[in-house]
Amino acid sequence: MSDHVGRENGAKTGRSPPTNPGTTDLDHDDYDDLEFACGHDHARSTDHYAFIYDNDDGVDQLALAASFVRQGLERGERCLYVADDNSRGDVLTAMRSNGIDVDDALESGSLSLLTPAEMYSQDGEFDPEAMLEFWEETLAESKADGFTGLRATAEMTWAVGERASDEALVEYEALLNPLYRNEEYTVLCQYNRDEFSDAVVEDVLETHPYITLEDGVSENVYYEPPDTDEDETAVDQMLETAAERTETKSELRSHKRYLRELYEATANDTKSFAETVEQFLELGCKRFGVEIGFFARIHDDEFEILHARGSHEHIQQGSRDALERSYCQVVIDSPDPICTIDVPAEGWNDDLAYETYGLDCYIGTQIDVRGTPYGTLCFASTSPREHSFGEDEVTFLELMGEWITTELEREDRERAQRTLYEIAADTEQTFDEKVQSMFELGCDRFDMEFAGIATIDRNSDRLEVEVTNGGHERIVSGAQLPLSETYCRKTASVEETCAVVDPVEHGFADTLTYDRFDMQAYLGTHLDLEGEPDRTFWFASSEPRTSDFTESERTFHHLMGQWVTDELERQQYERNLERTVEQLKRSNDRLKQFAYAASHDLREPLRMISSYLQLLENRYGDELDEDAHEFIGFAVDGADRMRAMVDDLLAFSRVEQAEGSFETVDCNAVVERALNDLRVQIHDREARITVDPLPLVEGDREQLEQLFQNLVSNAIKYSGDGESRVDITATQRSGWWEIAISDNGIGIESEQTDRIFEVFRRLHQNDEYPGTGIGLSLCQKIVDNHGGDIWVESAPGVGSTFFVTLPSNTTE
Ligand code: ADP
Repeated sequence: MSDHVGRENGAKTGRSPPTNPGTTDLDHDDYDDLEFACGHDHARSTDHYAFIYDNDDGVDQLALAASFVRQGLERGERCLYVADDNSRGDVLTAMRSNGIDVDDALESGSLSLLTPAEMYSQDGEFDPEAMLEFWEETLAESKADGFTGLRATAEMTWAVGERASDEALVEYEALLNPLYRNEEYTVLCQYNRDEFSDAVVEDVLETHPYITLEDGVSENVYYEPPDTDEDETAVDQMLETAAERTETKSELRSHKRYLRELYEATANDTKSFAETVEQFLELGCKRFGVEIGFFARIHDDEFEILHARGSHEHIQQGSRDALERSYCQVVIDSPDPICTIDVPAEGWNDDLAYETYGLDCYIGTQIDVRGTPYGTLCFASTSPREHSFGEDEVTFLELMGEWITTELEREDRERAQRTLYEIAADTEQTFDEKVQSMFELGCDRFDMEFAGIATIDRNSDRLEVEVTNGGHERIVSGAQLPLSETYCRKTASVEETCAVVDPVEHGFADTLTYDRFDMQAYLGTHLDLEGEPDRTFWFASSEPRTSDFTESERTFHHLMGQWVTDELERQQYERNLERTVEQLKRSNDRLKQFAYAASHDLREPLRMISSYLQLLENRYGDELDEDAHEFIGFAVDGADRMRAMVDDLLAFSRVEQAEGSFETVDCNAVVERALNDLRVQIHDREARITVDPLPLVEGDREQLEQLFQNLVSNAIKYSGDGESRVDITATQRSGWWEIAISDNGIGIESEQTDRIFEVFRRLHQNDEYPGTGIGLSLCQKIVDNHGGDIWVESAPGVGSTFFVTLPSNTTE
């Protein structure tokens, strides 16, 4: 505050500014003219005003406060109003009457109307120190947003009662003066005389350099400037603490913000790996304040840049260079990220990397995949950096690196698994070829050279190598070893995958495989096979392993072992099946030949029996008595029945041996011929037969005729005493024809409906219904030959329907 207090430079009011400090001569109705900030020269001011008003003495507190705000807005200051004694509405109305475009000011952010809680007790209670931070931050933000300063006024009634102790309030008011000094603050504290005690008003008078009473703004003669060094020091310390806190807070905020951005980048699963890495590079450049970022892969002595950001000539996607000419080598050699903010200052500048790339500041971390170096993620600039890299920044880089590692390992895992499935599903490869492909895949995945499968027998302590990848000259297929002398002894008694990474530690120091065959690491699974000798499936290496096998490597190995087990079991099953089928086929062939031969050869002696019985009857008929005639009759009848059976059997074995030369067969014609063959039976039983249009099918004409003939014949035979009716219908289903032969006969008990298709299965005595019990099994055989099905639905006393399905070859 300047040392004079006066009115605004006359243009508006036409009055001259007062030249002397002192009370401004003030017309109460004209608060417009009150001047609260003495020019813009804040370098000299502590614009901290107390406005002590009394509702009864006619001072229009709101008009004055509004005028204070308006002046601030006109000066381009950011204005805060803390309402408490008056309602928000009243305050805004007063501002509007004072010519302030309130809506515009609120919207643009140049004016904020706050509650005391928002202003003074953001953390729940009034804390003078926190308020200092608030003032500093708000001024800094306001200036950053283009405001010329910060202006605030508060109705101090908020502090009455419990909300802030008088001491805290006065302490706070006193602290503000050094803070406000020489800074762009203009603050008006409004004290309602009726609400505060005399003691407080006294303190208010002592802590505010300027005072506004009913008749104007004046320098406060009671003001006691903080003049002791101790006070200054105390306040300075507080301010310093506040500044430090503000800085830490803002660093923390920015760290959190970057972490959030990093999290968002990784959580977005619509983005590819490459896109996320590109985003990391952008984010890292922003975070570290550098212009170059890259992700490089190393191959032997070379590195290749996979993704890059920035316009450095040599750091572009696809650039390659020798490792030794880059800082990548240093990054790979270091267990932690490396960073430097000024290469020349740190004396690295005569190295090859500096000569080639000229990077002055650099931060980089190693990317490992499955424990071995894969590449580097680095950020750099061609100019040095002012501040060293903070812990947060290193953590940020490490987090990005860890994500890349995790993703690459996941890809690696998925790729191996895909390959495994491809090998397993490859129908072109034989089992042995697949096993070799699997050996190759495992060696690559586990970084091992040898692989094999061996049969083991714990009782006799034997291991016999079955198959290997040919990697080791001593471990060859057929080689026999004592099981206890091998790493496989560890695998032999457990189900899970076993690893040996430190043979001496694991008690294998004197074993053949370690001592003589020089195998330094091992990963094996026990294959437990049903009905076969146990096996082990393993990988081994002559190179010692630096780290244990990861869980995912063990799982992958187990998965391979599982496949080998399944495959071996399947093979065994197939072998057994083939053997059984072969045996069955042979016995079936023998049976067919036997049935054919038997039925064929039986016909002749049968004919002889019948003929000679006939001859006996004819020649000696007169000499025989009645009993003898009857006996001959039984013998002839038996011979006839036997001939019928032999004929049916012969028909059956013919159908069984048929080669199956199929042609398109019209079922209408087939049924017509069958009915023709059955005309005597139809006539005798006066059977009524209806036939719907039937389809064309692919089949054996003769067999189909036999099929229909048997079914219709049975339908008539088992029709009972009443009128015999047989209906033949056909229905097309998808891919099938379903032909139904239904009768109104005696029907079949439901528990017999399956058994009647067995050979010789009959449900009646011969004198009741004659027959051989072969007809339906012949039908079954014929339908089988045609790839169809046959079954019956029946109700005793109502009738039976036999269904036959045949594949449909046409669409009609
Ligand atoms: P069978 O020479 O005895 O007729 P099948 O093999 O043709 O021999 O039939 C076996 C048995 O199925 C018959 O004995 C009979 O009991 C029963 N059966 C066959 N068709 C019918 C039908 N349409 N109605 C009732 N029972 C039947």
